[in-house]
Amino acid sequence: MRVSTGARATLDRVAAIEVIPDQTIRVLDHGFVRLDASMADDLSVVNGARVSFARRKLEVDEADEGLIRFLMRDRHGTPFEHNAFRFHVRAPIFVAREWFRHRVGSFNEFSMRYARATDEFYVPEPEDVRTQVGKPGAYSFDPVDPAVAETTREQLQEVYETAYAAYERLVELGVARELARAVLPVGAYTEFFWTVNARSLMNFVSLRSAETAQREIRRYADACEEFFAERMPVTHAAFQASGRVAP
Ligand SMILES: Cc1cc2nc3c(=O)[nH]c(=O)nc-3n(C[C@H](O)[C@H](O)[C@H](O)COP(=O)(O)OP(=O)(O)OC[C@H]3O[C@@H](n4cnc5c(N)ncnc54)[C@H](O)[C@@H]3O)c2cc1C
Repeated sequence: MRVSTGARATLDRVAAIEVIPDQTIRVLDHGFVRLDASMADDLSVVNGARVSFARRKLEVDEADEGLIRFLMRDRHGTPFEHNAFRFHVRAPIFVAREWFRHRVGSFNEFSMRYARATDEFYVPEPEDVRTQVGKPGAYSFDPVDPAVAETTREQLQEVYETAYAAYERLVELGVARELARAVLPVGAYTEFFWTVNARSLMNFVSLRSAETAQREIRRYADACEEFFAERMPVTHAAFQASGRVAP
């Protein structure tokens, strides 16, 4: 949802990037994963490995595909590090918090100290409102009654409206943005850049697109994986064949 209040028009907030160019996969209600740039192909894996024998290839052939499968299967991980994906992501803060736990990679995030907070908040689709069943570590997530789903969405919207109105009020009273932001819930959207190599990306995808990961971050991991599969199809196929375990 996007919060709209009368006072908003007077705000000098730095707008989130509105133009969504190519190389973008939309995720959730206001989010996206955009591949800002990449230096990534299967050949980089092959040559990273073959330099051990002072060899360099110009194209990937069948023997190289076998080599990639071997490297993946036997967990020779370093040849998968000679590449980079630079993603631009818009996601709810609670998703970003999970994402930032992945230490191997580089992040820069939108600052609510320097710019006015976003007025976009995550409201799940009714079918994404779920209940958890079972024990910690072994939960399953079941759909809820449609009335409960609607109540959940309404409650979230109400809280977001109230929180954003309080934020605006505090900023207009002259309270520093770095403090006023404390009223905002973790459903607020944030934006960040993430640069990562294929080895670390596979670790992220392996953990975050698994059934055990939270549904919202899974959608983002799936989007990242699409870009990975497109840029490095042989490596991606080997990753799949090895049970989606990062080398
Ligand atoms: C389903 C799920 C539930 C989770 N629940 C929780 C939770 O309840 N609480 C919580 O705090 N976290 C939780 N996490 C986060 C998790 O513990 C990891 O912090 C996160 O998944 C990042 O994984 P990583 O360390 O493999 O990735 P990265 O930090 O990107 O590291 C990549 C790899 O580098 C190596 N590495 C990196 N740093 C070190 C180091 N210091 N020492 C040795 N090797 C290193 C490891 O091989 C690691 O796998 C959860 C994650 C998932 C997927």
